[in-house]
Amino acid sequence: MSEKIKCLIIGSGPAGYTAAIYASRAGLHPVMYQGGQPGGQLTTTTEVDNFPGYPNGIDGPAMMIDLENQAKRFGTDVRYGMATKVDFTSSPKKVWIDESIEIEADAVIIATGASAKWLGLEGETKFNGLGVSACAVCDGFFYRNQTVAVVGAGDTAAEEASYLANLCTKVHLIVRRGEMRASLIMQERVKNNPKIEIHWNSETEEILGDANGVTGIRIVNNVTKATEEIALTGFFVAIGHQPNTSIFKGQLEMDAQEYLLTEKGSARTNIEGVFACGDVQDTIYRQAITAAGSGCMAALDAERWLAANNLH
Ligand code: NDP
Repeated sequence: MSEKIKCLIIGSGPAGYTAAIYASRAGLHPVMYQGGQPGGQLTTTTEVDNFPGYPNGIDGPAMMIDLENQAKRFGTDVRYGMATKVDFTSSPKKVWIDESIEIEADAVIIATGASAKWLGLEGETKFNGLGVSACAVCDGFFYRNQTVAVVGAGDTAAEEASYLANLCTKVHLIVRRGEMRASLIMQERVKNNPKIEIHWNSETEEILGDANGVTGIRIVNNVTKATEEIALTGFFVAIGHQPNTSIFKGQLEMDAQEYLLTEKGSARTNIEGVFACGDVQDTIYRQAITAAGSGCMAALDAERWLAANNLH
């Protein structure tokens, strides 16, 4: 048994909900499946201070409830469930939810997001929101005039270390090899910043803390095997993100890191009627507000495509 709808939205972060608000106000009667983490990455954040419209900041989970209610107010059908398989080879497009429910949709908006990669240390879950973060732009402000560490050696780590150096008294950059992967210009910026100390060939063994949160880390030099404890209050993991695109493999065009590719200046993927927005197609900005903006673009693109194909 399949259900035929006009517009399906997969994913429920800021991109998905913004697409839902626009699509429902345009009369597309969208159905949204929220995915494995309803509300997306922001539900793991404590305070969101940089989303316009909240002058006093707002809790990430509370903001996502606001967005959900706004989407529902215009009639979005918000459902629990995870897309587990897709077939975009014919129209309407087919999407299976939880391996059983089959949805046929004229237009599909993909907003499945990306997940931050973690080191796998016990302290990462224990102190999440209490000193451990995967986003300096989101959480750095809470550590101003304090000592922090960033783990990673790519462009994200370099960018986060530089960003934090503007706020914090000291930034320890923990690099597992004897060189960085980041672009040369970003490396130079990090190396020339007196507030950033790079620990080469170093890995984090343990995140130390108490009931109030993180108090330090213990790192080990993987060449000399020497260990060192560093007192700090913020620990930022910046070892990359994994876009949630495994079910689209073989159907949608992706880059080498498996982010969905969209046509420049639009949300259009390589398949007609399939649109992507938010972190699933964004390797650079990855902010709630940019995700929301691209969700708006996806809904407008979907509406125009449906109208042009006499499906609206
Ligand atoms: P990358 O995959 O480029 O880098 C990940 C880094 O994390 C690597 O240096 C890697 O180390 C390190 N790492 C991975 N696993 C571990 C681990 N278990 N322990 C310690 N370190 C680890 O991810 P980024 O997020 O930095 O960048 C992703 C893409 O986005 C890149 O193409 C980048 O250029 C782009 N980007 C561009 C920006 C810009 O243009 N302004 C800003 C941010 C990102 P190792 O080097 O040893 O493998």
